[in-house]
Amino acid sequence: MSPSATEKSQAKSSGHKSEDVDGSHNEWKFRAPYKVHTNEDGFNALYEASCHCGRVKYQLSREKPLDAKYCHCTTCQVLHGAPFQWAAIFKKEDINFTHGHHELGWYESGEKTTRHKLPCKVSCVYCRTPIMDEGRNMILLFPGMIKWKSEAERKKFAPSCHMFYEQRVVDIPDGLPKWSGMSGKSDLIGDSQAEDVKKRKREIEEENGENAEKDEKKSKSSKKG
Ligand SMILES: [Zn+2]
Ligand SMILES: [Zn+2]
Repeated sequence: MSPSATEKSQAKSSGHKSEDVDGSHNEWKFRAPYKVHTNEDGFNALYEASCHCGRVKYQLSREKPLDAKYCHCTTCQVLHGAPFQWAAIFKKEDINFTHGHHELGWYESGEKTTRHKLPCKVSCVYCRTPIMDEGRNMILLFPGMIKWKSEAERKKFAPSCHMFYEQRVVDIPDGLPKWSGMSGKSDLIGDSQAEDVKKRKREIEEENGENAEKDEKKSKSSKKG
């Protein structure tokens, strides 16, 4: 959706140059997750978050993430300077950056560009706190910067699994499912619960069965042609 004339003129009257506002290449600045919500549009702020220096602030309107995970991949190890990373998945409409896209910097690891190109990593331009991964449809927030009002709140963001556990630098024997690679698309390893492992094996067998069926259909139809 293109920004309205009012949105554009507001941006210009608050000191933005037309080259940073006009044109389709600037439209993303006015869309979720960077669209600034006002009291009038009914955004219900349940959580407040701030980067280390305080330049980047956001609010969340959803009580619980759609899912939360720990990622042990080597890319996260490098980009986060940490043994693993904790991410909570939200819809782009669930977040309100109080300064919109301002004070934010982007990094797309494929092209190694700092242009806003999806999927990318988003951080504070000043203190470099990692803020989120912005995907094409979802955002993966790093919840460390949320100001919890209670232990119960933080528990709502508890991860459901570990992924890329094969690349780990530390064992986390917490009994959660541990995927060797992408969650749901690789093997369960480490101290994953026996039931989880069995369930995953059944799923793989079923998937293989379905693929075999598809292959059979394909080979039949190709024989016809
Ligand atoms: Zn900062
Ligand atoms: Zn990762």
